[in-house]
Amino acid sequence: MTTVTHALAPIILVKLFRLKNDTLTKYDYLWIAISGGLADVLNPHIYLIDRLTSWSHGLPFWVVFTLTLLAISLCFRRKFKLQVALFCSFAYALHLLFDGISGGINLHYPIKTTTGE
Ligand SMILES: [Zn+2]
Repeated sequence: MTTVTHALAPIILVKLFRLKNDTLTKYDYLWIAISGGLADVLNPHIYLIDRLTSWSHGLPFWVVFTLTLLAISLCFRRKFKLQVALFCSFAYALHLLFDGISGGINLHYPIKTTTGE
């Protein structure tokens, strides 16, 4: 998948999920889209081995990213809602899921490697 696809997929899913009572702003959706494509922007990869050794394509970074989002949402409650932080985390996790389906990711990298290195 391309970075643009990674950015648009969570937008579509969140929009479908929130169809009846959508109170999110266009900037909220922008943050969700950025979060969806962030893993590829932080550590671009062309070949599969690059993705398997990418620190941005593992669960440890996702946990750090989610905790950072939660901290930001707690500090700036009015500008960055908790709900948006959770959707951003979901978008990042969706990126990892899609990359995991299409070739795989090294889930615990860099803490533990499963590529045999
Ligand atoms: Zn990726």
